[in-house]
Amino acid sequence: ANRLSQFAGHLELPPIVQMAGSSVGKRLQGKVAIITGCNSVLGIGRATAHQFACNGVRALYICDFDGSNLPQLQSELKKSYGVEVHVQVFDASNEEAVKLVVDTAIANYGRLDVFFANAGILGAHMPVTDIPLDQFMWTIKVNVASVFLAVKYAAQAMKKTSADKPVSGGSIIATASTAGIRSGAGSTDYSASKAAVINMMQTSAFQLAGTNIRCNAICPGIIETGMTSVVYESARKRGTEGKIGQINPLRRGGNADEIARVALFLASDEASYVNAQFWAVDGGLSGSHPTVP
Ligand code: NAD
Repeated sequence: ANRLSQFAGHLELPPIVQMAGSSVGKRLQGKVAIITGCNSVLGIGRATAHQFACNGVRALYICDFDGSNLPQLQSELKKSYGVEVHVQVFDASNEEAVKLVVDTAIANYGRLDVFFANAGILGAHMPVTDIPLDQFMWTIKVNVASVFLAVKYAAQAMKKTSADKPVSGGSIIATASTAGIRSGAGSTDYSASKAAVINMMQTSAFQLAGTNIRCNAICPGIIETGMTSVVYESARKRGTEGKIGQINPLRRGGNADEIARVALFLASDEASYVNAQFWAVDGGLSGSHPTVP
């Protein structure tokens, strides 16, 4: 619990992040961004909200179906970086809600530059033989439909403003997972959902050819967030916490800020020629193991 609390605030970053240094700059200056899945105190969405805010984003929509921590995040971001931050509480797999947040951004600012479709759930976390169909469908709905809706409505809005910007067009980013690249990691519903996200981002990039909208997926490895806290906590109790990192070439799990910094790059114009890609951000885990057929 003590170690978890180290991760609880972006301003109290774990040692590795302090060493790496959080990038503070103007890489998103003037841009308007939406991020889903921001409520979790340890999560990737929250860490990315900080990265976007300290990189000059003009306005940020922080979204989650659980809004309990969002007002605190909103005031933290406003106070620290002077960014306009809007709290939006909705289910990211609800079509009307996703359309509404995009419409709201356009109504308020006349533009949408970045949609980071990050909200997701771990799913059934049980053997394939035991997963009830409803549970399977629920994972697909939350993890896949949320990304589909983000692409659908963000691209509709971005199309109107991106085509005339040769370099700084729209950027749509989804959080997939290494579980979507390699077999054997994660439960069947989760892995299937993340493989679908990767393909959907690549296919969308081609469908949006000529619009100057980029679509990319990030594939985190094992990251200590709200989603994996149960795994870390039970490993700690068993004294096997070290084993989580042992299989990784970097000999550790990752933290949310290490994913957020990749999201920042993909959101920025520095990634202007990066499109239809899925990037494993996993300390080398997926690169160091052969894919099991
Ligand atoms: P997290 O649980 O800390 O954060 C996820 C957030 O998404 C939570 O705040 C949750 O309330 C929100 N959310 C869930 N369903 C939602 C919905 N239907 N609508 C709106 N919000 C919803 O976990 P995290 O690790 O930060 O997860 C972020 C993304 O990263 C997820 O898509 C997850 O699958 C992916 N990912 C995580 C890991 C990891 O090891 N933590 C690895 C690979 C991929």
